[in-house]
Amino acid sequence: MFTELSEKLEATFARLRGRGVLTDADIKDGLREVRRVLLEADVSFQLTGEFLARVEKRAVGVTQLKSVSPAQQLVKIVYDELTLMLGERKEGLKLSSVPPTVVLMVGLQGSGKTTTSAKLARKLKAEGKATRLVAADVYRPAAIDQLETLGRDLQVPVYADRGTQDVVKIAKAGIEQGKKERDRVVIIDTAGRTQIDDEMMQELRRVKEAVQPDEILLVADGMTGQDAVRIAQGFNDAIGVTGVILTKMDGDARGGAALSIYGVTKKPIKYIGVGEKPDALEEFHPDRMAGRILQ
Ligand code: GDP
Repeated sequence: MFTELSEKLEATFARLRGRGVLTDADIKDGLREVRRVLLEADVSFQLTGEFLARVEKRAVGVTQLKSVSPAQQLVKIVYDELTLMLGERKEGLKLSSVPPTVVLMVGLQGSGKTTTSAKLARKLKAEGKATRLVAADVYRPAAIDQLETLGRDLQVPVYADRGTQDVVKIAKAGIEQGKKERDRVVIIDTAGRTQIDDEMMQELRRVKEAVQPDEILLVADGMTGQDAVRIAQGFNDAIGVTGVILTKMDGDARGGAALSIYGVTKKPIKYIGVGEKPDALEEFHPDRMAGRILQ
């Protein structure tokens, strides 16, 4: 487990062999290695600092255990604390008791919002939950085509209305259709922009007001590291999200963004996107992500 960190810590602590007890200075040496690993994994400075303080507090008391090496003990503490700071439990989609559950997908252009909407629809359909997609990204006509194509491939119905730019109207009509067809879930793909701006947030607020979604899921590009954290904070402050989907985690993103996003928003990461194909969506496991950060 976490070969690199473990080896580094073993090396750091090698000179202590036979002593059995770590001094504060020894722990500081070990934590320096942990710090390096976290920063390399794209965890923010501030969070890294907070994290190390927590680990240090726990590390001081447990160094007397003789059966396990100090390095292993420290790795275990780091892993446990990381898992805790990533949200601890895995959290799926919250379904409303009265169908359809309405899911609003939000995020910047290019984050993978449309693709992820389709991925989520596919997953829900596979679970036996009738799902409808609603194309409310009216400013990018190609997005409507894209969603319709994806829907056709996945055999998931798509509601679209090219006759209007009124996203509230589209969202409401899509949900109405979902009710009529007895869908379990309606996923609304909203418009993104290249950066956070007031106009986008106002529009999202209007849609939120009008449809009272059960979930507002922010789709954020995991490859963008600290930018994703800033974006998550921006969306959460402006409209209040209920969860996050981190995309493009099939790349070499190390997962520090996941830690920071949860750290600043306290909203759970629910899924991760791990490829371009419709089946490339995984549930988020905090413990696995902790492992990835420590790799
Ligand atoms: P939108 O503008 O937010 O709706 O973004 P799109 O859904 O059109 O996605 C933008 C690009 O990212 C497309 O080329 C997608 O195939 C790609 N994409 C989305 N999710 C993932 C992912 O999890 N992994 C990879 N590798 N690519 C992804």
